[in-house]
Amino acid sequence: MSAFRIGQGWDNHRLKEGRPLILGGVTVPCEFGLDGHSDADILLHAITDALLGSVALGDIGMHFPDTDPQWKGAASERFVQHALSLVERAGYRLVNVDSTVILERPKLKDYRASIRENVARILRLPGEDVNVKFKTSERVGPVGEGLSAEAQAVVLITRHA
Ligand SMILES: [Zn+2]
Repeated sequence: MSAFRIGQGWDNHRLKEGRPLILGGVTVPCEFGLDGHSDADILLHAITDALLGSVALGDIGMHFPDTDPQWKGAASERFVQHALSLVERAGYRLVNVDSTVILERPKLKDYRASIRENVARILRLPGEDVNVKFKTSERVGPVGEGLSAEAQAVVLITRHA
């Protein structure tokens, strides 16, 4: 078994009026939000997939099927924590996370610190080991037209000493 492994995750959800906009577990005030079966937190979903990928355990849909009523409206923090427990059970610990949220509007820079802090808390990492970047899609494609939003994440894990 390797001393290090990496995982990658990507997620997208449609935007819908009247839905909450929750990113990294933080509710961003906005007249529209992300639509989906759970709380549709694209950032935590991408991180969950990156964690599952790092230990080659498939994807979020296998572990938390959207046909299962127990996950309806679920706080995505639970998905991340479950994926993290699988990483730990496989004999690894999380080293760091880098991520990108791609959303045309609203501007998210005022929420950067609180989103980063909350993601670090969920992952039980120091803030310096978590990075969240925000980008627009330059008004091009479904994200740029305000129809959807995306998130990407990569994680590094290492064998327990
Ligand atoms: Zn999702």
